[in-house]
Amino acid sequence: MNPTNRICFPWKSFAPLLLILVLLVSCSTQAEKQEASHFKTRGLVLDVHDLSTVDWPRRAKEAGLTTLATHITPSQVAEFIQSERGRQFLQECKTHGIEVEHELHSMGDLLPRSLFEEDSTMFRMNEEGKRVADYNLCVHSEKAVKTVCDNAVKYAKILTPTTGRYFYWIDDAVPMCRCPECSPYSDSEQALLLENAIVNALRKEVDPEAMLAHLAYVNTLEAPVKVKPAPGIFLEFAPIYRRWDKSLLDTGATGWNDTQTITHGEHLRLLDENLKVFPAETAQVLEYWLDVSLFSGWKKPAVALPWHPEVFLEDIDVYAKRGIRHITSFGVYIDDQYIKNHPDLTFVNEYGKGLEYYRLRQ
Ligand SMILES: [Zn+2]
Repeated sequence: MNPTNRICFPWKSFAPLLLILVLLVSCSTQAEKQEASHFKTRGLVLDVHDLSTVDWPRRAKEAGLTTLATHITPSQVAEFIQSERGRQFLQECKTHGIEVEHELHSMGDLLPRSLFEEDSTMFRMNEEGKRVADYNLCVHSEKAVKTVCDNAVKYAKILTPTTGRYFYWIDDAVPMCRCPECSPYSDSEQALLLENAIVNALRKEVDPEAMLAHLAYVNTLEAPVKVKPAPGIFLEFAPIYRRWDKSLLDTGATGWNDTQTITHGEHLRLLDENLKVFPAETAQVLEYWLDVSLFSGWKKPAVALPWHPEVFLEDIDVYAKRGIRHITSFGVYIDDQYIKNHPDLTFVNEYGKGLEYYRLRQ
C-alpha cells in the first residue's frame, strides 16, 4: 500500500489560501524590517554635477539609504531639475523608491542682489553702519521678507521635495544684519524670524504640511532665545567645525583645522541647547563623514575620502540617544572623476547599512 494515499490532502483547493498566508507573512516581515530602522531619513547630499555624472539613485538604494538631496543654490538646482538629465534623475529616484530633497544656500536667489539699487533698506547693514548687498538681508524689512517668501514659494513649485521637508538656508557662514532693529537679535534669531515667515508662506501657498529647516551652523550654532520656532520648523544641525577622525564622544577634541577651536563637547552642548527649542523627533543632522569636497579643501582633483567607520558608528549613537531620527551627510565631489581616481566606494554602503541596521540601546 502506498502510504501517501492515506494522507491525501487537497493541496490544490488550499493553494490560494496558502499563497495569501505567505504574502501576509512576507509583508509583515518587511514592515518589521522598516519599523526596526531607528533612522527615518538616511540621506546623502550631492551637488548637481555629482548627480549628473553618477547613477546615484541605484547606488543609494543598494546602500540602504532613503534620501538623496541636491545642493547648492535654488537657481542652479532648478536648472538641473528642469533639464533632461534632471528629469531622468527624478524618475530614477521614483523607480528605486528614493526620496528627494533640496538643501540650498538661498538668499542670493530669493532676494536678488539687483534689487539693492531699488531699495537698499532690504539689505543688511554691516558693522560700519552701511547697507551692503554682499550677503543675506535685513529681516526687519517687510519688503525683503515678502520678496524672499514669494520667491521661496516660486522655487517650491519647481523644487518640490518628496518628503515635504524644505531647506532654504541663509548664505554660507556669513553675517546677518547689524541695523538698529536687527542688532538685538543673534544671527540664529534673525534666521529664525525669516524661516518662520517662509514656512508660513509655504504652508499657505504650497503645502499645508510643509516643514522648513532652521540650520544651526557656524554663526547660527547658538540656540535662539528671543524667537520661538513657528509650527513646521525643524532643527538642522551641521557641525562643520568638528573633526571626523575622532568621535563626538571625544569631548576635548578640537576642529579639523587650526582655526577651529570649538571642541566636540561644546558642539554637543550647542546641540542640546537647540534641542530644548526644537523638537528632537523632527531634527535632522547634516554631517560631513562622506564630504569629499571638505576633505579636498573644496578644490578638485578630489582626495580619497578619509573614512573612519568606527567614528561614524559612535557618532550616530550619540545622535540617536538624543532622539534624532533624521541623518544626512554631504557627499559632494563623489562624481564620475572621483570614481575613476578612487574606485573603492565601499564607504557608501558602510554608511547606508550602518544607519539602516542601527538599533538604539540606552
Ligand atoms: Zn536689519
